[in-house]
Amino acid sequence: MILKKTSLSNPIDEKIAWARHYYKEFGDNLLKEKRLVDLLAHLKTAVVASRKEMAMTGIVEVCRRCEQEEGGSCCGAGLENRYDGWLLLINLLLGVKLPKTKQQTGSCFLLGKNGCLLMARHVICINYLCKKITDLIDPRIIMELREKESEEVNTLFILHENIKPVLRKWTST
Ligand code: SF4
Ligand code: SF4
Repeated sequence: MILKKTSLSNPIDEKIAWARHYYKEFGDNLLKEKRLVDLLAHLKTAVVASRKEMAMTGIVEVCRRCEQEEGGSCCGAGLENRYDGWLLLINLLLGVKLPKTKQQTGSCFLLGKNGCLLMARHVICINYLCKKITDLIDPRIIMELREKESEEVNTLFILHENIKPVLRKWTST
């Protein structure tokens, strides 16, 4: 079986279909690869740590008010196009259920009723803080959050680069 190409410029539904296909075919075996299992576990821990830090800074509450009471949100339509098939596959390996249809008109395809549906997010989604936040939160607190987020971003990058050769090897015959 030759690995089908997945390009960043493909529509999100095609990239999700690509990720679902390879998860179905190889998910169980990918989850037996020790290096990948360790990286997935490390990523989960890093995501939990940075989200906890984000809640402690008060950013989560500011964003909740912004989204639910002030009609704002930074998860706009088109941001899903930043995601490639590999990052979506990593989310499936983390147990995330990817959506079949867009849940909110005018918003990112990957936004659910209670926020982002993903566990492994693009660096743009991890790092983005609007002016409302940067004006409100002490820069030293934001620096501490950035440290936690860098662990998440670095682990995700390594995982991304480690999963590709494994799947390419299994699909090269
Ligand atoms: S980052 Fe800014 S725009 Fe986005 S939800 Fe939070 S407060 Fe609103
Ligand atoms: S955080 Fe999630 S919902 Fe928001 S733009 Fe990023 S992928 Fe989309």
